[in-house]
Amino acid sequence: MASQKRLLGVFAHPDDETFGSGGTLARYVSEGVDITVVCATRGEVGEITLGSKATPETLGAVREAEIRLALNVLGVQSLVILGYRDSGMMGSEDNKNPSAFINAPILEVIERLVEIIRKCRPHVMVTMDPSGGYGHPDHIRVAELTTHAFKVAGDPSFMSRCAEELWSPNKLYYHVFPRSRLIHWLKYIQETDPSRDIARLNPNTLGTADDEITTVLDVSNFVELKIHAAQHHHSQRSPFTILPQDLMREVLCKDFWLRIEPHWDGGEVETDMFAGL
Ligand SMILES: [Zn+2]
Repeated sequence: MASQKRLLGVFAHPDDETFGSGGTLARYVSEGVDITVVCATRGEVGEITLGSKATPETLGAVREAEIRLALNVLGVQSLVILGYRDSGMMGSEDNKNPSAFINAPILEVIERLVEIIRKCRPHVMVTMDPSGGYGHPDHIRVAELTTHAFKVAGDPSFMSRCAEELWSPNKLYYHVFPRSRLIHWLKYIQETDPSRDIARLNPNTLGTADDEITTVLDVSNFVELKIHAAQHHHSQRSPFTILPQDLMREVLCKDFWLRIEPHWDGGEVETDMFAGL
């Protein structure tokens, strides 16, 4: 493989790149990997935290500035914002907005992603959990369409008039949380703050079964960077504040991924996405 390793991350909203994958991005930046982040929306309809100066009218612009600052902390130089509108939580009125990401023509989005893949020529692609994590329709859609784009970017019959050369990325990953960790967090929340909505979740349906996880990355050297990057997403409630600091730091030491391509047949868990390339 060429000496320059490249990674492309595709996310739905500003903050998804940091809250879920920030440790992984920072680690690969430190290893000299050339990283591009794609964000489908500006997160216009996220809930605004108390203390943020953002308003519903300015939130998109505020969050675009936030992701730029956060990526700067993580060391990622290249950001592409697709500019669709945040579709909002499942069942909300925002789902019906014609500009919402979930209402964008599927082929249009795939073509835009394929053009980016052919231009950036990543060896590794990462995206969100297609179960949507907490069921956000944009998370589900971004995973679906990224998976599709991954598969067709090297197909000469797809977008044959595209000016960029064909490119087939080697590996595709979904970001996940292992169920055992979520059970551990939930137990803590149920014991310390049982009134919170989150305390009523059924842990057995959360996250990904531990034995399905294919890839565990040690990102312990990047915990501080990740926390720092998350602080730039000031308009959004950081999931890093849910748990006490020492527990949180322990949680942030590892990032967990499902390798989708090439298919994983079990065996030893991967500790490096670029292994074998
Ligand atoms: Zn999101």
